[in-house]
Amino acid sequence: MDLRPLPRCVECGWRRPGRAPGCRACSRWLDDDIEAAWRAALRDYEVDDADVPVFAATVVADPRGVGWRVLDGALAHTDCPACGAALGSGPVGCGECDVAHDWRWLAAEPDRQGVPPGNEHAIRVATAVARVAHRFPAHMVPRYAATLPLLIAGGLPGGDDARAANRWLDSGGTLDALDAAASTAEIAALVRVPISG
Ligand SMILES: [Zn+2]
Ligand SMILES: [Zn+2]
Repeated sequence: MDLRPLPRCVECGWRRPGRAPGCRACSRWLDDDIEAAWRAALRDYEVDDADVPVFAATVVADPRGVGWRVLDGALAHTDCPACGAALGSGPVGCGECDVAHDWRWLAAEPDRQGVPPGNEHAIRVATAVARVAHRFPAHMVPRYAATLPLLIAGGLPGGDDARAANRWLDSGGTLDALDAAASTAEIAALVRVPISG
């Protein structure tokens, strides 16, 4: 896949939104993506403003079959009764948020037409990692976020490529180098070259 047409973030210069949550503009793009799906669901179900909290509570109570962006939107519009943060995004150890975060994975993730199987799941996981980063191991966060532009464009790095990329990053390869690559073929070649020193 030629990566050159992918839009770059006006603030950080990386392929958008590959530098969330560190870059505000990349994070905002991800939040807007969720919010757009949430607003579309409110229109589809003709939810009045006054009924939004009840609709959100219904989605949160049983997210099975609901699109994952709509569930994430419902969580963003629901205050955690225990810690007051957006539900599921509070500190690890808040019981209500821990449960909501675990249930996040019950929502639906149908693949778009013409993408490799599992692409939507990968987008959804990487989006969660970038948006509720404190609930995932810190070293994972930039790596997952950096895959988002490729996944959103409809690509899915193969298992071997992903493992090679992780080994390469562990031994000193940089996300900046991956971001600068012009194609997925260039990335695949790059991560197979051992780092010297
Ligand atoms: Zn950015
Ligand atoms: Zn909470």
